[in-house]
Amino acid sequence: KKKIAIMTSGGDSPGMNGVVRACVRMAIHMGCDPYVIYEGYEGLVRGGDLIRKMEWHDVRGWLSEGGTLIGTARCMAFFERAGRLAAAKNLISQGIDALIICGGDGSLTGADRFRAEWPSLIQELEANGEYTAQQLAPYRHLNIVGLVGSIDNDLSGTDATIGCYSALSRICYAVDLIEATASSHSRAFVIEVMGRHCGWLALMAGVATGADFTFIPEKPREDNWREEMCSIVEHHRKQGKRKTIVIIAEGALDRHGNKITPEMVKDLLADKKGLGLDTRITTLGHVQRGGTAVAYDRMLATLQGVEAVKAVLEATPETPTCVIAINENKIVRKPLMQAVQDTKKVAKAIESQDFDLAMGLRDTEFSE
Ligand code: ADP
Repeated sequence: KKKIAIMTSGGDSPGMNGVVRACVRMAIHMGCDPYVIYEGYEGLVRGGDLIRKMEWHDVRGWLSEGGTLIGTARCMAFFERAGRLAAAKNLISQGIDALIICGGDGSLTGADRFRAEWPSLIQELEANGEYTAQQLAPYRHLNIVGLVGSIDNDLSGTDATIGCYSALSRICYAVDLIEATASSHSRAFVIEVMGRHCGWLALMAGVATGADFTFIPEKPREDNWREEMCSIVEHHRKQGKRKTIVIIAEGALDRHGNKITPEMVKDLLADKKGLGLDTRITTLGHVQRGGTAVAYDRMLATLQGVEAVKAVLEATPETPTCVIAINENKIVRKPLMQAVQDTKKVAKAIESQDFDLAMGLRDTEFSE
């Protein structure tokens, strides 16, 4: 019987439990034995009872649970070959040679590296005398499939990452709450949302809440951003708007690559002549990650989980590691490293201040 292991890694996101549930049950449906690895790569490296066999009923009720019930962690040991060697040994000792990983681009990069290195890890285990060539014969290849779990929607090549719509909904809900009190006191609020490198959450929250102004990393503000923001806010106020909402991503920048902070925006709204707004800062922080997944993320988790099991069973040593994506409402398989590299290009474009390229890369679909 084929054994398939499932793990969650990197930052948690709503929908990860839905992924585990779908993979466990689809694996059983396909006649395989599902395993889960607790605590991300940490569990893979440490092994033991962090790798456990799952039954159909073990994931009952998981679809509506937030976070990840099998845990996630940052794991320094997996950056080292010794850690990955221990991981290979742990998988083989359980008879596992197929792995499904739900995480961000870091986790998926680690996965691809592990798969590429696998034949040499196997050789080393044989040379060390841990296993005989005969014992290792069924494990010559490791098949890995990636799923993107991230609240930031920060992977190129997929329209949505698992969890991003839950985080966006939570932000919208929080802004609605703030708006009621803002408008009562005629106040301004500067709301900081997650997104160090990717402004999707801030931008979409701005659109979905009708915010006065947004700041995101990919669209750095020109030198006149102060005048620009103030004149827009002033205009809205003149039209009778009693609340001012400015949404700022953690990684907001100006044209010179300098950070724009919520404090800078607040001081401006409060001190600018003619505005002088009573201004508060709200940092939404980890509430954006919490809670149950919205319907879209549950659907994405389930459909992509099913596809991931199919993909890992169909993978051959020749096929590149794939990531399950959604493009124009279709669940598709894409080469994992292409998606990671295109994502890195966005980061590079931002660093080099080629922001138009960065925006283009985010929006563009990549052909395979
Ligand atoms: P995310 O998956 O959310 O992007 P990280 O970048 O923190 O999160 O990666 C999660 C974990 O994946 C790391 O703690 C590490 O164990 C593993 N990892 C990330 N990048 C690599 C890499 N280049 N090589 C090996 N392991 C990696």
